[in-house]
Amino acid sequence: MLNLANPTDSLPWQETVDLVVVGSGFAGLAAAFEAKSAGCSVRILEKMKGYGGNSVISDGAVAAAGTDMQQRQGIADSKEQMLRDMLRAGLSLNHTELARTVAEQSKEALEWSIALGARYQDRVQAFGGHSRARSHLAHRTSGFSIIKPMLSACRELGLDIATQHKLQRLICNEQGRVCGVRVREGYTYPDRNSGVPKNIKARLGVVLAAGGFGNDLPLRRTQVPDLNESVDSTNKPSTTGEVLRQAMAVGAMPVHLSWIQLGPWGCPDEKGYGVGPGFASYIAMPYGIMVNPDTGRRFMNESADRKTRADAILQVGRPCICIADSRGVEQSGYDIQRCLDKGVVRGFSDPAALAAAYGIPEGILQETLQAYNDALKHQAPDPYQKNILPGSAALKHPPYYAMRVWPKVHHTMGGLQIDTRARVLDTKQRIIPGLFAAGEVTGGIHGACRLGSCAITDCLVFGRIAGKNAARNEHGNHRAV
Ligand SMILES: Cc1cc2nc3c(=O)[nH]c(=O)nc-3n(C[C@H](O)[C@H](O)[C@H](O)COP(=O)(O)OP(=O)(O)OC[C@H]3O[C@@H](n4cnc5c(N)ncnc54)[C@H](O)[C@@H]3O)c2cc1C
Repeated sequence: MLNLANPTDSLPWQETVDLVVVGSGFAGLAAAFEAKSAGCSVRILEKMKGYGGNSVISDGAVAAAGTDMQQRQGIADSKEQMLRDMLRAGLSLNHTELARTVAEQSKEALEWSIALGARYQDRVQAFGGHSRARSHLAHRTSGFSIIKPMLSACRELGLDIATQHKLQRLICNEQGRVCGVRVREGYTYPDRNSGVPKNIKARLGVVLAAGGFGNDLPLRRTQVPDLNESVDSTNKPSTTGEVLRQAMAVGAMPVHLSWIQLGPWGCPDEKGYGVGPGFASYIAMPYGIMVNPDTGRRFMNESADRKTRADAILQVGRPCICIADSRGVEQSGYDIQRCLDKGVVRGFSDPAALAAAYGIPEGILQETLQAYNDALKHQAPDPYQKNILPGSAALKHPPYYAMRVWPKVHHTMGGLQIDTRARVLDTKQRIIPGLFAAGEVTGGIHGACRLGSCAITDCLVFGRIAGKNAARNEHGNHRAV
């Protein structure tokens, strides 16, 4: 059979399945699981030797509203409140119906992962920009704890991942319906000429779940010229945007590509995500403070959304210092030994030693700590509107811990435009038959700023929707439910 998209292409279909899923992270596995459960034959393609993309290295924090765990801990929350928080952080650029879908199905997505075997810690946390504690932390604060049972569940259904299979392009028939893919089988990252071309026919369509483009320098720089090679990223090297480009080549509409999130807890003393963000996110920001090393003073709301915090640090113009003490470490329940072993976080017997190590004016740092502690004691509103967590202790229990902080590219909010059924739309807002997308390869859901822990929820919710709807995409005549 010829490739109908390109009659000069004589490569025949070498394999035929109902559905091809591109990507083996949260979104891809969720889609594949649902489609297979609905009776489809499914091929999961993964370009790397290992599976799981950014999902497997994530912290595994899942935002969900109205959950049993929140109830057990007396936290009043609702999907409406979660949506409001997402829209506020996203500067209301969010495609509201997509964000609403994530918020409305967040509890179900969390419960679904638990039903598959994912384990979560017995507490929820209020991540920056969330007005409620709704971030459910996976066992060992690791996305692997969620991906592993998802993969086992897929394997039980007879699904496996075709690793080293890189999507090269989408194949459309004469009616413009996506009916297959050209892959390079045996691809070895990053050699673009490695592997052997192969055409796979997809009777019902293709789900794109190929993640973001945080390490695609040309694409990143086209959108935000300042995000050049000098700006580090927390992502895996494989986060390049070729799948996004291929979807655009068949007419898909890209949205919000220039909204690229910088993680305001990156440490310039290590490469990539490293270990520092654990200290900054889970200890120093919630239970400590951030100071400008030149002035020794606080300058931002440490509990704000990521964009607000990253912008504030960039405004300072040099790495800032986040500080916690031993009580903060205790309260967080987070183990900082790896941060200390790597020298990313340093311990000090008193504020004077800390100030000397980072060139902070000592007297002013003492004043800053005193002012913060006084405000805590008198339960006064924080001058920077920080959401002071109940039971927060004064910063006065040695050893003191500190880390240098500088933003790194973390998440690409932009991507393919989809509808609430995960169908990809074209530049005229028409559905591209046979093409679905979910997860970080899509755009619009989070607007200008994704809230921490909302990405996994998004991937699980839309991955499942994509898999279910693609499975009902009989003969390209979409019968969505
Ligand atoms: C260090 C880190 C920590 C994070 N922690 C959290 C957290 O705690 N909570 C939260 O909500 N979010 C978190 N995030 C964000 C979240 O993990 C990601 O947005 C999410 O995992 C993306 O999932 P995905 O399925 O869309 O893509 P991915 O998990 O990245 O998977 C995409 C896969 O597609 C493959 N692929 C790409 N191109 C091709 C191609 N051409 N052919 C075949 N395969 C291809 C990739 O190799 C990859 O394996 C974190 C991100 C990072 C980097």
